[in-house]
This record gives sequence, C-alpha cells and structure tokens, in this order.
Amino acid sequence: MAEECIFCKIVRKEVPSQPIYEDHDLIAFPDLHPVAPVHILVVPKEHMQNLNDAGKNDVGILGKMLRLSAKIANEKGVAETGYRVVINNGEDGGQVVPHLHLHLIGGKSLAHQLG
Ligand code: AMP
Ligand code: ZN
Repeated sequence: MAEECIFCKIVRKEVPSQPIYEDHDLIAFPDLHPVAPVHILVVPKEHMQNLNDAGKNDVGILGKMLRLSAKIANEKGVAETGYRVVINNGEDGGQVVPHLHLHLIGGKSLAHQLG
C-alpha cells in the first residue's frame, strides 16, 4: 500500500470508483478518460509501480489480470469484435499513474494505431 497512490486510494475506497469487478487480488473499474467505448482498468490491489516490480511471486496475479481482461471483454460484448490490452511502463511507456494497471480498450477499431 502506498499512502498517496490514487489507485491504492481507490482500493481502500478513499476515492470513489464504480468497480465492475472486485476480488481479493484485483479491482477493475472504468477509466476516467475513456479513449474508446470500452475502456476498463484492471488493477492489482497490491501496490507495484509497474512490471519492473513484478517478481516470481507475482506471476499468478499477472495471469489473473489477463484472464479477467478476457472475461470483461466478453461481458462488454467486444470479445468477438476484438480489443487491446495495454500496460504502460515508465515515462517513455506513457505511464502516468505509478501503480501497475492494465488498460482494456475496445468497441472501436484500433487497427493501425500503436503509440
Ligand atoms: P497510464 O498512462 O497507463 O498511467 O494511465 C492511467 C489512467 O488512469 C489514465 O487513462 C487515466 O484516465 C486513469 N485514471 C486516473 N485517475 C483515475 C480515477 N480516479 N479513476 C479512473 N481512472 C483514472
Ligand atoms: Zn498504489
């Protein structure tokens, strides 16, 4: 837990969000500034800055993040049309919130768009 981290605050319910999924390890909620009709953040409850902090013990949680993305994509009706999962890491990766999270983005064509 990081005291001032916005996503840790969401996990602790100190900052409101509208979780669409929550369990012991993960929380998922809509991005505040969606870039597509479906834009969900999948966030591990344990604070890790980004993938650089993920160790052997975190392999399970990383896998759960991917599996949950596919489940949410299905629930949101974009599993068949397709979607993108993105993890921004560090400054050049465009990471703004320093708590590991995965973007699930879909509902429009992202073909030929990278970066
Ligand atoms: P990143 O660039 O990968 O660090 O993305 C951070 C994302 O978090 C951005 O897309 C923001 O719109 C989103 N975001 C920041 N604060 C909140 C919040 N309180 N609730 C939902 N999404 C947020
Ligand atoms: Zn955090």
